[in-house]
Amino acid sequence: MSYFRPSIDTLRAYEPGEQPSPDSSIIKLNTNENPYPPSAKALATLRDIEPDSLRRYPHPFAEEFRQSAAKVLGINPDWIVVGNGSDDLLAMLFRSICGAKRPVTFPVPTYSLYRTLAQMQDVPTVEVPFDDTFTLPVNGLATAAAALTIVASPNSPSGNRISTTDLYNLATRTPGVLVIDEAYVEFASGDALDLTSRCKNIIVLRTLSKSHSLAGLRLGFAVAPPSLVRGLVKVKDSYNVDAISARVGAVAIRDQNHTRETTKRICSSRERLAKALEAIRWRVWPSEANFLLVQPPSGNARAVYEGLKAHGILVRYFNEPTLTHQLRITIGTDEQNEKLLKALEHLNR
Ligand SMILES: *Cc1c(COP(=O)(O)O)cnc(C)c1O
Repeated sequence: MSYFRPSIDTLRAYEPGEQPSPDSSIIKLNTNENPYPPSAKALATLRDIEPDSLRRYPHPFAEEFRQSAAKVLGINPDWIVVGNGSDDLLAMLFRSICGAKRPVTFPVPTYSLYRTLAQMQDVPTVEVPFDDTFTLPVNGLATAAAALTIVASPNSPSGNRISTTDLYNLATRTPGVLVIDEAYVEFASGDALDLTSRCKNIIVLRTLSKSHSLAGLRLGFAVAPPSLVRGLVKVKDSYNVDAISARVGAVAIRDQNHTRETTKRICSSRERLAKALEAIRWRVWPSEANFLLVQPPSGNARAVYEGLKAHGILVRYFNEPTLTHQLRITIGTDEQNEKLLKALEHLNR
């Protein structure tokens, strides 16, 4: 006898990457966090928060952040919903759009939380495999005719950006909503934000977790036409974004120079690390994100993962049938990436 719904009893809970204690000396290249500090202006704002401002409930729509994000993107604030990380927005999308007869579809492999959210709510799921080049399977996804289609671009763990033409074609062919999860877009050569004004069924998700070095703040947002925004807001927790996050996040997103500088630095490190791995005969998939999908020459990804862990370096190994030979490595500082290469040399002896 269980107190839970059957689907919760059988649910394999989402497995976040390992999180060692912050003061440990482990080099964390497993969950795509940014190795550089957040905006100094945002941190100054954090230090100056008036204790008395916390006595009251925060604004239900995180208005200060919403206004700042709208200004930075050059759109109207009523096109934005703010969430407690983009994970919160994904949960809101499932709650408001999916149901027992309203399926979700997404290409795989991708961010595994999509599958977990579907299972939590008994939502029928059509997983459409990517091919070896991670080109969007537009046909398969459109044929699913799902209420909700989710595409991460750049995708994780593959790192490639999805063609805007493919996204547009998919949006015109699906009867439901197309969500484009742009968690890594600041590391890419372009984005799909424009599509939100061309198609009435597109929602773009953004987060401050990766490019703004604020994964601990929990702040993300959705950009969508106001009609979709109104539906999403109905299933939101009343105060889903706390006053501190809204305040600090507003300053962080306005500090575009800081974001540009750190993301640029990470992109150059990414190209250097890719070349260095290719030089030792690793397969490296082309990436427009702050991580690389790679395959060691031995194909024994698990052994390399364990060997690196013994050297105090965490990378991501996916215990999944289609990814048994691959690892996902977050781009660290150049110093961290050097240590990674040194450790790999050591493992090969
Ligand atoms: C990291 C990540 C997220 C989660 O972002 P949060 O804002 O931290 O919840 C969403 N989608 C993808 C594809 C991610 O990699």
